[in-house]
Amino acid sequence: MFVYADNAATTRMSDAALAAMLPCWQELYANPSSLHSAGQKSAEAIETARQTVARLLHADSKEILFTSGGSESDNQALLSAAALGARQGKRHILSTAFEHHAVLHTLKKLEKQGFDVTLLPVHEDGLVRPSEVAAAIRPDTCLVSVMAVNNEIGTIQPVGEIGAICREKKVLFHTDAVQAAGHVPLDVEAMCIDLLSLSAHKFHGPKGVGALYVRRGVPLTPLIEGGAQERGRRAGTENIAGIVGMAAALEESCRTREEVHRRLYPLQQRLIDGLSAIPHTALNGDRSRRVVTNVNFCFEGIEGESLLLLLDQKGIAASSGSACTSGSLDPSHVLLAIGRPHEVAHGSLRLSLSRYTTAAEVDYLLEHVPPVVAYLRQMSPVWKDLERGAKPHLL
Ligand SMILES: *Cc1c(COP(=O)(O)O)cnc(C)c1O
Repeated sequence: MFVYADNAATTRMSDAALAAMLPCWQELYANPSSLHSAGQKSAEAIETARQTVARLLHADSKEILFTSGGSESDNQALLSAAALGARQGKRHILSTAFEHHAVLHTLKKLEKQGFDVTLLPVHEDGLVRPSEVAAAIRPDTCLVSVMAVNNEIGTIQPVGEIGAICREKKVLFHTDAVQAAGHVPLDVEAMCIDLLSLSAHKFHGPKGVGALYVRRGVPLTPLIEGGAQERGRRAGTENIAGIVGMAAALEESCRTREEVHRRLYPLQQRLIDGLSAIPHTALNGDRSRRVVTNVNFCFEGIEGESLLLLLDQKGIAASSGSACTSGSLDPSHVLLAIGRPHEVAHGSLRLSLSRYTTAAEVDYLLEHVPPVVAYLRQMSPVWKDLERGAKPHLL
């Protein structure tokens, strides 16, 4: 059996997204900037997709900028807000310790350029407190950036409350909604969002395409100079198929969201209950305020990397921390941010489900994960010390 439980890293494309894309390569291939009618057909396909994405976010189509994905959208949002802040003499940015690296590394770059960055702590439940955001906003704050759903632990942040605070204090609010789109309702008006990042491949669309919602009146500083595409805000011939596929995938994800939620919720609960039965184990992130597709555990006394390799041999594709962190030996910054000690953060496992996950696959996970954890513990010198009482258990 092959069980793909790494949907927070990327998802398979849906049939609807693929079907929408196919004609774009061999029929709708004319350049949307060309004046001939073939080019205008391509331009129309892009505008239809823009209207679909806008409608699903409760935005206007002029407020949607197509990009190459979540990372570009995050970079574009932060760098533009910072540039605007600098012009107004405001050089303080407020964000959190558990953002995606596309945000954190951009903030590092801005710090080197003289911006003052405050990273709010995240609580043990994996949630940011709106009152702490309010308290940390200063007269020179030009931007607040808080992700809508965390990519490692799946916790859903109180984005609407944070947006209302920012609106009242007249500070721009950006949210990285890459893990939220298609999973939780998003409404840029009701949630007082000024900038919002999306990435198609996280909701069964193609890789290499994303969007940035930019509230009317918020000036952008282009990252890519050249032609006048995207109303002069992002140069380069448009990724027609990617844009059309993203709109189809987002439409389908939003349309089926509640039904998928109803089907996945009991599977997620069964997975959490089953893995919680392993001793010296902890669920990462609040149990209820999380997306139904995310299960993330720390198992004391083991290494996440070894766990992943053994699970891979059983046909299980999972993850430990984020795709960017794996491959390095540093424990996940998200697990450290919610207060897990280094030793414990190393032994983490993220199982991320999708609308394609079946009950039989969840049974397979429950059958294979516990014995693999037990096997690794039995081989681990660290676990032997814990069991002998030479070291205290942390979980
Ligand atoms: C995947 C992800 C990104 C990056 O998106 P790409 O399209 O892969 O560049 C940014 N933020 C979050 C929360 C993500 O999960």
